[in-house]
Amino acid sequence: MNNQPSQPTAAEAVARLRTAFRTGRTRPLAWRTEQLTGLCALLTGHRDEIADALHADLGKPRTEADRAEIDSTVREIDHTARHLEQWLLPDPVPASSLTRLPPGTTAHTRYDPLGTVLVIAPWNYPVQLALVPMAGALAAGNTVLVKPSELAPASSALLARLLPRYVDPAAVTVLEGGRETATALLAERFDHVFYTGNADVGRVVMRAAAAHLTPVTLELGGKSPVFVDRDVDPEVVAARVARAKFSNAGQTCVAPDYLLADPATARALEGALARAVEDLYGPDPARSAEYGRIVNERHFDRVVALLDSGRTVFGGRHDRADRYIAPTVLAEVKPDAPVMREEIFGPVLPILDVAGLDEAIALINDREHPLALYAFTDNGDTRRRLAEETSSGGLNFGLPVAHLSIPELPFGGVGESGSGRYHGRWSIDTFSHRRACLDVPLG
Ligand code: NAD
Repeated sequence: MNNQPSQPTAAEAVARLRTAFRTGRTRPLAWRTEQLTGLCALLTGHRDEIADALHADLGKPRTEADRAEIDSTVREIDHTARHLEQWLLPDPVPASSLTRLPPGTTAHTRYDPLGTVLVIAPWNYPVQLALVPMAGALAAGNTVLVKPSELAPASSALLARLLPRYVDPAAVTVLEGGRETATALLAERFDHVFYTGNADVGRVVMRAAAAHLTPVTLELGGKSPVFVDRDVDPEVVAARVARAKFSNAGQTCVAPDYLLADPATARALEGALARAVEDLYGPDPARSAEYGRIVNERHFDRVVALLDSGRTVFGGRHDRADRYIAPTVLAEVKPDAPVMREEIFGPVLPILDVAGLDEAIALINDREHPLALYAFTDNGDTRRRLAEETSSGGLNFGLPVAHLSIPELPFGGVGESGSGRYHGRWSIDTFSHRRACLDVPLG
């Protein structure tokens, strides 16, 4: 943990990583691919230990550990390993005739590694959200310092123990610890800082990085709405929303935060959601092996305080000793209710009645840009208006959260939900300098 004698100081760790970068060891494609293969081997070779750590930290069900932390991470990293060579090729651009350069002039862009990257990871998907950014930074040829979240201590300790065995220990350092460690790291000069977590700390990170003119990627959160049109099957909507919302006990940055529907659709959704939750977790989610727990008592108390924000359709039970909050749906919630004033980040789903699309769009636009906007509709005009009249990190029709699983899509927020993007080749863009190269014949 924090003050382990074996941990170097922030300054020592960064100095070592800088030295390693300068040797040039991180540049060859073969080295980069080896790191990616190593990360996949770590994930698949230590499945049980990883699942145990996630269970200790978050009561994370085994199926969720396999699906959302191990398999999805392996798929993402493997996709990068398979395409990396091609992504790194120099990109020729026409040497424009407007510049009147001599015949034979060529121009291209190339991807240069930035140097040493800091990844600050959160607790809710402590494995995926440490390793996927790290994989991108290594694939782009950087050395990396990772600081896992102190709120997921078992996962943090496991990563610190295993990573040096699977990736080049000269190029990757894990520093465990909380705010103090993060503050010490942010005082150092990095070439990029990649932060995932809440917007308040995002501001701290950006301020610290500004002192060194270090670029930052901020992967933040927000209230991701779901608009449900009147012509869609409530059973389909409920099944898809319930799975996305209540996985990891609602502690997912792109979880549906609230539903918007006209009153008749909203009432139909109430029953459908109750059935969907029972399908997922049985009659008593507290006894289901598929249902997770809240990360700590502070978050437990915060979420419990939101439970009185509307009419309880089902759920509401909670047990502090077990950090259990039942999947809960609240109906006829008002836009200014407590549950609508902050990102919920827990298993509480408010339904707001709106007259129609105009009111839904106005309500969405009255708030900060969310990390994702979801909608269930077959109406082309409704889709077009949602795309054109709102802004969000991602726009997803029909299956909440699934856009993350497509590595060709950039993942990131806009405005208060973050800045910058990653996944697949977008990570290479983020962790590289796109260098402009010109070659004019001497003759
Ligand atoms: P957290 O408390 O684990 O904090 C994230 C990281 O910031 C940790 O490593 C922590 O040690 C560090 N930190 C805390 N205080 C700090 C400080 N003062 N200075 C520097 N670093 C500090 O996680 P969290 O913020 O509670 O995570 C939940 C939030 O993260 C939610 O808003 C969620 O939506 C968002 N999130 C976003 C994504 C995404 O990919 N966009 C993913 C997961 C979570």
